[in-house]
This record gives sequence, structure tokens and C-alpha cells, in this order.
Amino acid sequence: MAIEGGMPIRSTLLPYARQFLSEEDIEEVNKVLRSDWLTTGPKVEEFEKAFASFVGAKEAVAVNSGTAALHSSMFALGIVEGDEVIVPTMTFAATANAVVFQKGTPVFCDCDPQTLLIDPVKVEEKITDKTKAIVAVDYAGQPCEYDELREIADRHKITLVSDACHALGANYKGRAVGTLADLNTFSFHPVKPIATGEGGMITCESYESAEKMRRLRNHCLTSDHRERQEKGAWHYGMEDLGYNYRLSDIHCALGLSQLKKVNDWTNRRREIAKKYNQTFAQMDSVTPLGLRDDVTHAYHLYVIQLELDKLSVDRGEIFKALRAENIGVNVHYIPVHMQEFYKREFGTGEGLCPIAEQSYERILSLPMFASMKDEDVEDVIEGIEKVINYYSK
Ligand SMILES: *Cc1c(COP(=O)(O)O)cnc(C)c1O
Repeated sequence: MAIEGGMPIRSTLLPYARQFLSEEDIEEVNKVLRSDWLTTGPKVEEFEKAFASFVGAKEAVAVNSGTAALHSSMFALGIVEGDEVIVPTMTFAATANAVVFQKGTPVFCDCDPQTLLIDPVKVEEKITDKTKAIVAVDYAGQPCEYDELREIADRHKITLVSDACHALGANYKGRAVGTLADLNTFSFHPVKPIATGEGGMITCESYESAEKMRRLRNHCLTSDHRERQEKGAWHYGMEDLGYNYRLSDIHCALGLSQLKKVNDWTNRRREIAKKYNQTFAQMDSVTPLGLRDDVTHAYHLYVIQLELDKLSVDRGEIFKALRAENIGVNVHYIPVHMQEFYKREFGTGEGLCPIAEQSYERILSLPMFASMKDEDVEDVIEGIEKVINYYSK
């Protein structure tokens, strides 16, 4: 065991995720650097149109992070103080934080123990007369139960939002992620399905919502820099408080180039997942996440659940042993309601979402990215077998 001074499986760390850039991507960025518009130029609309067309949505709004995409969604829905928004606790903190940015209250919901996706039955239990929206997170890249969530949302006349930051390229009953909720958000952070450095997108059918979010990203001004330059005018109005959530043309050029590869990359991720699935089906102490049969998975993450009663150490020790082998495992996520901020400001804490809390103790994300070589996949499998066998009871 490397943790005890032995030889690690690999000589360098294999990360859990990383970007995949080509010379072609770099050339597209260079072209923008040589052009007139570094930001608020033609690449923004081009990227929005290509993205909308890729998922099959009417509108796409580019912003400078997945977090900005979530906040813009909450703004477009008109979330204000006193409003409640149901969010899963098994997610990245930004999903809930976006509600708080608008002074709303995130109401944390527990997950299904197999898939770790938000549980529609528990969603319905959390609805009150203050509930304005449900945010579904396609955890690990697997779409949530959208038909059930839609039915609940419609019955209570509330909005359905999809935090699809993990799930670009996935499908639910033949329908693409990005078209499954009223507003759908994406992130282009380097670990996500496509990378722009920092970046995000919202897709929707409503032109009105899209325009609201386009204004929000530019300080809620009534015109942008390019519009003013083209009209030879200087005047702009400000009717609301906005932000600078603009995504530059440099980023959009990279996004456009990366978007062309999503389908190939998703196929590669599925191939890797298949290898992992075949291996872990043979191991008693490791259980991959549950898979729904009416979806295709984007495999942003490949998450295993450890059977702790069959192991002599906890997840923390397994994590350390794998890192010592240079297998870059990670943990997604610490349930958001267990974070100090939410405990202090919203009175959340232990016992609120018991399934997520228990799952958190046993999850590990394994390396998963499209440029992983077959040898890398073999290293992960060997590393898991080595460490798990060593600590098996
Ligand atoms: C990455 C991520 C975000 C935030 O995206 P950024 O681009 O990092 O701001 C939000 N929600 C989920 C589920 C994510 O994975």
C-alpha cells in the first residue's frame, strides 16, 4: 500500500476531472484576440444560438458562471424575500446560494438512496403556500424524474428549474437536458462537460425570461456597449439593479469550439462508465449509483457508494489510501444543509435530510473525463481493487 510507504499504482496523480482542449480550440480563441470585440461582440450570440440549437431550446443566455446562471434564473422567476425554493441538499452549494442571493429561502430536500437524485415524493412534502419553484439537479449527469416533477410543479402552479451543470449531453425519455424544465442552467468550469474557463448558460422557451436575464447580466441597462456603438448613441437607462455577468467573446469562442465535441465526449464517458460498472458489479464492498432505464447519462461524475459494514475503515481512510496511490478520488457533495452558513442563517442541520447525510459518509467520485486513456481507467480499477481488498473485513 502506497499509504504505508509502498509503490503507488501511478507515478503522477490522475485527477477526477479535467478539460480537453485541442489546437483547433486554441486557434478559435486566437481569432477573437485578433478581432475588434473581446467582449459583447458577435461570438456571444453565436455561442447562444449554437447552444440553443444543440439542446433544442428556443433561447439560450450566456453568463460568466454556472452560479450566475442559477442566480439569473432566480431573478427571472422574481424570487424575493419570503419566497421558498425547494433545492436538493445533495448538490454544490451554488444551487442553494442562488436562492439566497435573491433573499429567498432554500428549502432542502432529501434524495433517493440509490441515484442520489431529488426524491419527488419528498419534494411534494416540502411545498407550502410560499413555494415558488423547485430546482432539480441532474446529479452526476443523470437526469431527474422530470415528468413527476413537472406534474407536481404544474399542480401547485410553481416553476421547475433544472440545474443541469452536470448533464449537458444527457437525455430523459428521448428529450434533451436543457429542454426539461422552465429554466435550465449549465456551467463551463474546466471540470464540467465543456470548458470555457469560467462560464455558464441558461436555456428556456420564454423570450421574455431570456431578455430579463440578458439585461441582468449587463447591470439591467436598457442597451449594451455594442448597441450604443452601432447606433452612435450614448444614452442608457437602468430600471433595476443588475450585475456584470457577461461572458466574453474569448470564452464564447472556446465554448463554440468545445460544443462540437460534446457527443463524442459523452460517448467516451459512457464507455469508461461501462468498464467501471462491469468491475464493480463483481465487488461486494462497492456499489455504483443506481441507473434509471429511461435516461441516457452524461457521466460528469462516476460515483461509488462504499459498503462500510464490509470494510474495516471509513470513507476518509479509503480516500487517503487512494490518493496515496495517485488515484484522484473526490467527494461530491457535503450536503449543503450541513454547511455552517445554512446552520447559522437558516437553522438547518443534522437529521434534516437523513438519506443524503448517510450517503455522504460513503460516496467517492472516481476519475472520469473524456481524455482518459484506457490505461488510466485500468489504473483506477487496479487502485480500487488494491485498496478495497486490503481493507475488506
Ligand atoms: C459547477 C456547479 C455549479 C456552479 O457552476 P460554476 O460555473 O462553478 O459557478 C452549480 N451547480 C452544480 C450542480 C454544479 O456542479
